[in-house]
Amino acid sequence: MRIVLFGAPGSGKGTQAKKLEAEFGWPQISTGDLLRAAVAAGSALGKRAKAAMDAGELVSDSIVLGLIEERIAKADAAKGFILDGYPRNRAQAQDLERVLERRKLELDTAVLMDVDFDVLMKRLTGRRTCSTTGKLLNIYFSPQAEIDECIAAGGELLQRDDDNESTIRNRLEVYQSQTEPLIDYYRQRGCLRTVHAVGDVAAVYAGLRAVLRGA
Ligand code: AMP
Repeated sequence: MRIVLFGAPGSGKGTQAKKLEAEFGWPQISTGDLLRAAVAAGSALGKRAKAAMDAGELVSDSIVLGLIEERIAKADAAKGFILDGYPRNRAQAQDLERVLERRKLELDTAVLMDVDFDVLMKRLTGRRTCSTTGKLLNIYFSPQAEIDECIAAGGELLQRDDDNESTIRNRLEVYQSQTEPLIDYYRQRGCLRTVHAVGDVAAVYAGLRAVLRGA
């Protein structure tokens, strides 16, 4: 299947995309991850993207389009893929349609991960990654045992550069003004599905699988 997974920062797209990838083998394609890798590698593209990312703004449409085109062309994406964090505005949604058309492909569904604003704030400000295992944790929501496991393994709880409060506020505003219009965009195309993405990871995943069965 070819799926767009969209929703506000902190709606759990990445976590759910990883679960789909593990179960069905469709690669998770996250523009955020691709951009962070470019920044970490110190590439020219990474340097161009970094300022926008640090401010919680969107990186230019042409940069992310290039990343997406390259990634979709890889062999593992032939059986389907999960776009996590792309598209994020109307122009990107149209870019994506063109890229797929050129490859004679169609999107199967666009799934909105729906979460209330105050829950998002806690998810984002509490979000950490274990430096040893790479596991995603949250200081407000993760079971203490999982946090202890990371520390016992010699791990540190790392916070993403753009998970500080002022950048988070900006990212949520950018989501409301630029990405939320995609709800209507995909509704009009008849491929919008919505998952109420609050509750534990397994329950949200069950909801996601249920909407995919109907897609
Ligand atoms: P994410 O990991 O999806 O929250 O993305 C982190 C940051 O990367 C965002 O705040 C943007 O600055 C940038 N980014 C990720 N995906 C896109 C996209 N599709 N378009 C523009 N910027 C993006």
